[in-house]
Amino acid sequence: MKDRPGATSVRRWPAWAWFLTGELALVAVAVSGLLGTLEPTAVFAIGITTLVALVLSVRRHRPALTWPWWAISASMAFFLVGGALRFDLHTLGNITTSRSLVPDLLSLPGYGLGAAGLLGFSRARDRGRQRHFGVILDAVIAALAILAVAWVYVIDPVLFQTHTPLAIRLVLTGYPAMSIFLVVVTVRIAFSPEQNRVPSYWFLLAAMTCMFVGDSFYMFADIDLISVAGRVLDLPYALAFVATGTMALHPSMRALTEPAGNRPQASSPGRIVLVAIALLVPAIITLQHPSSSLQDRVALFMIIICLTVAAVLRIVQALHIAERSEANLAYQAMHDSLTGLPNRRMMHQHLTNVLQRASVDDTHVALLFLDLDRFKLVNDTLGHTHGDELLIAVARRLNAHVRPSDLVTRIGGDEFMIVLGQVVSVSQALDLANRLRFSLRTPFVVNELEFYVSASIGLAFASGDDPDTNAEVLVRDADTAMYQAKDAGRDAVAVFDESMRTKVSERVELEHDLRRAVELRQLHLVYQPIVRIPHGPIEGVEALVRWAHPTLGVIPPVKFIPLAEESGLIMGIGEWVLEEALRQLAAWRHQTTGFEDLYVAVNLSGAQLHDSGLVERVREALSRHGIEGTALCLELTESVVMDKPLAAAAVLTALRGLDVRLAIDDFGTEYSSLAYLKRFPVTSLKIDKSFVDTLEDDDSSDATLIAAVVAMAHALGITTIAEGVETTSQAHRLMELGCDALQGYLYSRPVRAEGLPYVVNSLWKQSENVLQGSTS
Ligand code: C2E
Ligand code: MG
Ligand code: MG
Repeated sequence: MKDRPGATSVRRWPAWAWFLTGELALVAVAVSGLLGTLEPTAVFAIGITTLVALVLSVRRHRPALTWPWWAISASMAFFLVGGALRFDLHTLGNITTSRSLVPDLLSLPGYGLGAAGLLGFSRARDRGRQRHFGVILDAVIAALAILAVAWVYVIDPVLFQTHTPLAIRLVLTGYPAMSIFLVVVTVRIAFSPEQNRVPSYWFLLAAMTCMFVGDSFYMFADIDLISVAGRVLDLPYALAFVATGTMALHPSMRALTEPAGNRPQASSPGRIVLVAIALLVPAIITLQHPSSSLQDRVALFMIIICLTVAAVLRIVQALHIAERSEANLAYQAMHDSLTGLPNRRMMHQHLTNVLQRASVDDTHVALLFLDLDRFKLVNDTLGHTHGDELLIAVARRLNAHVRPSDLVTRIGGDEFMIVLGQVVSVSQALDLANRLRFSLRTPFVVNELEFYVSASIGLAFASGDDPDTNAEVLVRDADTAMYQAKDAGRDAVAVFDESMRTKVSERVELEHDLRRAVELRQLHLVYQPIVRIPHGPIEGVEALVRWAHPTLGVIPPVKFIPLAEESGLIMGIGEWVLEEALRQLAAWRHQTTGFEDLYVAVNLSGAQLHDSGLVERVREALSRHGIEGTALCLELTESVVMDKPLAAAAVLTALRGLDVRLAIDDFGTEYSSLAYLKRFPVTSLKIDKSFVDTLEDDDSSDATLIAAVVAMAHALGITTIAEGVETTSQAHRLMELGCDALQGYLYSRPVRAEGLPYVVNSLWKQSENVLQGSTS
């Protein structure tokens, strides 16, 4: 709830703060002596409220695991009853046979339950049994060490003469030993990752430490080694109660039973020291201990034996954990975490081995590079969870279709590599590759959705006696062949051959040159007029990019635009083309007459259309050059628009908002459907050259097609432009068919900016002549 403006905000004190303050005040009053004989009652009251706090907290905070909390609550109850009886039966200081062991018999299960609760915390957080067992061992070692030391240095010298029964001696030393057990478990809980050291944890540690201090003092007081007032002896216990209650009331108590992040644990120096001390204790004690009664020596001997066994177990267990985590790390380093398949590293190692073996046995090796087709689409449209599930299913399918001697590996994303050992021939490897390809044909069902998956596979083959072949070369070749398979239309296997390598290296070189071409101003634009019919003057020009390569000469766009699209260079190039075309149009308008109403058409690639900044960039470029939207036409191919139709429609609508013209380029070569045109606000269609080419053939049905396209486009208010018009008869035919504009070598080839005004001039003249001819 929000505070009203002007109202003073009252922050409510949390319950745990109330409890802590109230109880500490009560403790202060109790130990100050002000309460006189009521002091034990006050401590008892603190204990009772703590018990209530425990129970209420579990109900309020609802920790993930409740039983450890109930164990701790029960242990509180046992302590309270035991404490009350101890007070009632006056056991303190009575170390003779007349001492009643009833209070101790009640406190003992109290410790047991407390220990169970703490171990419950530790177990919940560590999850792994191994580590949990280590916690118990550490605590046992510490407890036994304290027991031995207390026995030898405190109990035995003091009680040597008194003939105190063994049971009482054990009970006396048992308390500090048990509470150190609890302290060690608590400390060990904090060995799990730091984020677990929440406030509740610190209160727990405080409580356990107070218990230990209290138990130690109690032991000294019991054997009359120290003499203090009862209320002072009660102080650590009272504080332990307060800390326990606060721990439970604090909201961070939930973290105590929540699993901690899995951090690989190195053997911490603290634990090594602990084990070392534990092993030293028996040695020191045996050396120093004066010979006492047989009974004592037997007891000590037993303690020492237990201590040594616990310490040895701890070391063995620590070694075991180290070994296991090493094996774990080794496994992780060699396997893919998603599919569990071997990863690239293991593939490389295995391939190297197989190649070596092949050179000895004189056999052959084949490597398949398998890439799922259009997998990105699954991830993009359905999310990564579906994508991951699908990858797991594909991994399983592949594994089920290889021979036992083959190794399926995943090297990242949707790429798998399969090492085929002991292959007899390329055709056998090809068969195996196709078997894998066909195995994917049965649709995959993931989360009740059906997926059709295909793969492009590159195959590289090596005979064992080929000295030039190694794992790297084979991987590279399979990769190259895979791209060839993709180029060939996907869902195919391509076998590597040397010509592919030359092609690839040429491409790599060209890409490198292209990267610099923009900076070095090696790109320029040429312009081709678009002529309005029947006798029209020109209506616009299409800007077409050219690359004047310093050594290879002028490279046509069909050769470098696809490369630019794959490498992402198209963004920079496209931006430059737009800018340059608009700059040039503005320049023509200033310098030459006849350009006032012309538009410039610019080709756009898919990446440009789906770039979120496109609309803004077009708007800025237009205003920078003072050009209105109608003087720019953006040309897009059908596939560019249809790749992501929803997104494309939104961008096209925004562009239309700037009055920019929109043309579908190369119409008829891809989808050849007019139905989708209704969904996009395009202004013109450019009928592909291939239709124009066959117009004059007698048996061509293209004329009918063009007529239908023109009619439908007109019905939708879209104009039509025919591309690649080379002859007058084509032009006449297109006119008859109702086309609105023509573009082609018949009117002009694409020319440099400086040449265009002459071309435009002569086209104007021609059209005037035609007009005059028709009127005279
Ligand atoms: P397009 O947009 O369909 O351009 C028309 C192509 O047909 C041009 O080829 C042009 O020179 C050619 N052409 C025009 N009239 C005739 C003719 O009568 N006969 C013949 N045989 N050809 C004719 P160009 O310049 O080689 O461009 C090829 C393609 O490259 C373009 O096809 C366009 O898709 C792409 N392209 C060109 N410049 C750019 C650009 O700046 N950006 C992008 N993304 N693509 C461009
Ligand atoms: Mg074009
Ligand atoms: Mg075209």
